[in-house]
Amino acid sequence: GLTAGIVGLPNVGKSTLFNAITQAGAESANYPFCTIDPNVGIVEVPDYRLQKLSELFKPKRTVPTTFEFTDIAGIVKGASKGEGLGNKFLSHIRQVDAICHVVRCFDDENITHVDGKVDPIADIETINIELILADLETVDKRIDRVAKIAKQKDKQAMFEYEILMKLKEAFENEKPARSVSFTEEQMKYVKQLHLLTIKPVLYVANVSEEDISSGSNEYVEKVRKYVAAENAEVIVVCAKIESEMVELDSEEKEMFLQELGIQESGLDQLIKASYSLLGLATYFTAGEQEVRAWTFRKGMKAPECAGIIHSDFERGFIRAETVSYTDLIEAGSMAAAREAGKVRLEGKDYEVQDGDIIHFRFNV
Ligand code: GDP
Repeated sequence: GLTAGIVGLPNVGKSTLFNAITQAGAESANYPFCTIDPNVGIVEVPDYRLQKLSELFKPKRTVPTTFEFTDIAGIVKGASKGEGLGNKFLSHIRQVDAICHVVRCFDDENITHVDGKVDPIADIETINIELILADLETVDKRIDRVAKIAKQKDKQAMFEYEILMKLKEAFENEKPARSVSFTEEQMKYVKQLHLLTIKPVLYVANVSEEDISSGSNEYVEKVRKYVAAENAEVIVVCAKIESEMVELDSEEKEMFLQELGIQESGLDQLIKASYSLLGLATYFTAGEQEVRAWTFRKGMKAPECAGIIHSDFERGFIRAETVSYTDLIEAGSMAAAREAGKVRLEGKDYEVQDGDIIHFRFNV
């Protein structure tokens, strides 16, 4: 599956947040066949629709879908020129599909900041520069190979050279690859470069207990302003509170959130935002036995989505009996939805939509 990696400078609250993730984590007993890497935290994706469907179908089991976070520890500064630990840090980032960048936005005299003072923008830049320098190296190596052939008017080489130079210019101006615009065709080539700064990023502003109710402070405002240029999202959390909250049951958690005056825990916001950052969405299967949420990538067609459940479903795919969540809830039952003509028979070219409830028909 796709995974989001958690990065940040030392002492910004990464481990505190990651601990909250692993403790809130989906019961590992539910995943007996996975060997879980200690650096991976599997969480259930919060979705109010699952609860509603469960009330409607009254199944024996209700199974949420899950999402993975990876803790990317390691030395940050100098990573791009460093060996050993620094390289490891970069190679771990290379393996994730999106980046959750934790930024310290709280004051605490007892907790030293690696650079002596709390400055979220400087923190963001410290990490981003390392990633940009690593990408610059990747691109420079390619340019070495391509430049000569491009001079001989080789079409493919010229095509690549133009893209590489555009990237190089961005990197030299300390801009990430994701801020550069490319045509669809160029993008196909860019993807093959496996750049670090092309990955989507979500900034996680870690604030103090005092600031969580208002959801902001002067540091957060600075971060928001700074990342607006990058078109990135900012989530405000208090890692300390999150790590305390995972010990509460759902009722206590609800009360606690009400006291704080917030609607949704930072962890839930983080899970949802990471999920959509990766272009993921949810469809459901529902019956007497089980109501279950499944993760798919937006744009996937019905047979591919069927294959997420079982490869036989994809191979023998005939049709997808589909109703949207809103239509089903409005009708009140599957039978009523069918009578109202809201249950569609979709074929192999159907692009599955977020919230679809699907019954796959297939040949064995
Ligand atoms: P890491 O080095 O980024 O993994 O940071 P840690 O999670 O180990 O946190 C560093 C220190 O900051 C620890 O003493 C945490 O208890 C503290 N800390 C983390 N999050 C918060 C927070 O939201 N508020 C306050 N006041 N302290 C925090």
